[in-house]
Amino acid sequence: MITYRNVISHRWARAQTMRQLEAGHISAEGLCDADFLLVTAATYHGREVDRSCPVCARENLREVRWIYGDTLGSRSGTARSEEEIAAIVEELAGQRVPRGKDGEVAVHLVEVCPACRWNHLLTTGVAELA
Ligand SMILES: [Zn+2]
Repeated sequence: MITYRNVISHRWARAQTMRQLEAGHISAEGLCDADFLLVTAATYHGREVDRSCPVCARENLREVRWIYGDTLGSRSGTARSEEEIAAIVEELAGQRVPRGKDGEVAVHLVEVCPACRWNHLLTTGVAELA
C-alpha cells in the first residue's frame, strides 16, 4: 500500500467557502461547477464516502484521486483508484527513477457530488510506498 507525505489540507479553504455560501456571499451555482469529466471520474474511479453533500444534501459525496508527475507521461492528470496509484508508485520505484521532484507522484484528493456537481479539493500530497 501507499502512504502520503507533504500532505497539504485544503479543508480550511473548504470551510471558508461553506461559510461564504451560508452567508449568501456566493451562490451554489458558482460552486457546483464540476464538469462532465470530473463527475464521470468520481463515479467510476472514486469511492463513496459517508458524508452527504454540504450543498444539496441529496447524495453522499464521492472522493476521487488525480495524479500528476513528470515521469507519468500521459497518465499525468488522470483519475486513479488507490490500487492503481500503488501499482504506479511501485512501477516507478522499480525503474529507479531518481528521488526528488521528477520521480514524484502528486495526488490531489477531490470530493464531488454527482447530484449537484459540488466539488472541492480536500488534500494534496506525494504518494510513496508504505
Ligand atoms: Zn450536492
